[in-house]
Amino acid sequence: MPAKILDGAKIANDIRAEVAAEVRTLAAARVRPGLAVVLVGHNPASEIYVRGKVKASHEVGLFSEQHTPSETATTDDILSLIEDLNRRDEIDGILVQLPLPSQVDSKRVLMAVDPAKDVDGFHPINVGLLSTQRPGLVPCTPAGVMEILKRSDISIAGKDAVVVGRSDIVGKPAAMLLLNANATVTVCHSKTRDLPGVCRRADILIAALGRAGMITGDFVKPGATVIDVGMNKVTDPAVFQRLFGGLLYKNAKREEIFRAKGSTLVGDVHPEVAEVAGALTPVPGGVGPLTIAMLMYNTVKAATMRRGSSVPEPSRS
Ligand code: NDP
Repeated sequence: MPAKILDGAKIANDIRAEVAAEVRTLAAARVRPGLAVVLVGHNPASEIYVRGKVKASHEVGLFSEQHTPSETATTDDILSLIEDLNRRDEIDGILVQLPLPSQVDSKRVLMAVDPAKDVDGFHPINVGLLSTQRPGLVPCTPAGVMEILKRSDISIAGKDAVVVGRSDIVGKPAAMLLLNANATVTVCHSKTRDLPGVCRRADILIAALGRAGMITGDFVKPGATVIDVGMNKVTDPAVFQRLFGGLLYKNAKREEIFRAKGSTLVGDVHPEVAEVAGALTPVPGGVGPLTIAMLMYNTVKAATMRRGSSVPEPSRS
C-alpha cells in the first residue's frame, strides 16, 4: 500500500491560524509582537525566503520590518545593527538570514543576538536550553518536523528514530527534540558506516542531508514514517530521469513543470520510498511550509516569554 502523504502545507496553515488568534489576544493587551529580518546583500534565494517571511508576518498580524545592509557591510556594521535591535522593546524576534557575505563573521553575529529574541534558536543559550529540556526558542525546521509527527498522530516515545544529517540547524536539534520526546535516537553523517542498514532500523527516519533522492527504498523499513527535510533544486534532466523515470505516470505535472521551468524542487528521499514507507512528507509541501509557520510561532513565543509569561505549545487539532 502506498505511504500516507503527510500534508505539511495544511499543518502549517493550521499553525498560522493559531498564531494569528494568539496575536489577536495579545492585541487586546496592547502587545503587538515584532519581527526584524536582517538580509545582507543580494542573494536571490535569500531574497525569496525573506519575502515569504515578511509576507507571513503580515498575514498573522505581526509587526515586521526588514533591514538590508549592503553586500559590502562589515562584521561591525552588522553587530551595531543587532545591538540596536536588541535594545528596541517593540522588536521581539531577530532573524539574520543566512548565508552572510564571506567578509562577515557569522558566528559572532549569531552570538550577538539577544537569546530572548533569537527566533531561529541558533544561539548557544537556546541550544543549551533545548538539550536540558528547559523552555526556550527551538530552531524552526526541526520544530516543524515535530509538529508534523505530533499532528499526524505518529507516536514517538519508545520508537527508533534515525536522523541523517548533523547540522546545527536541522540534524542536531531534530535529534534532541526526538530524544526529549523519548525516542531512541541515532544520528548519521557522511562518515556513518552502512547508512542503509542503520536507516532500515528506523521507525521514524528524518532525512536532512542535502542530497537529492539519496534515500532510496532499500534505506526504509516497510511501514516506517519518513520525514524529508531536503530541498534540492534539480536542473539536470538525467537526475530528473533517475528520480522520476520509473514513476512518470504519477509525476506528469512535475514533468510538465520541469520541462517548462528547467528545474524542480526535490527532497533527499527518492520518490520510490512512497511504495515502502507507511507515511511520508512530500517535497514541496511537506516540511518546507512548517519552517515559516514555526518562525511566526517563535516570534509570538518570544514576545510572551519576554513579558514574563509563557504561551502554550501550538494546540493539537
Ligand atoms: P548541511 O549541509 O549543513 O548538513 C548536511 C548533513 O548531512 C551533514 O551532517 C553531512 O554530514 C550529512 N551528509 C551529507 N552527505 C551525506 C551522505 N552522503 N551520507 C550521510 N550523511 C551525509 O545541511 P542542512 O542541515 O542545512 O540541510 C539539510 C537539507 O535540508 C538540505 O537539503 C537543505 O536544503 C534542507 N533544509 C530545508 C529546510 C526547510 O525549510 N525544509 C530548512 C533547512 C534546510 P557531515 O557532517 O559528516 O558533513
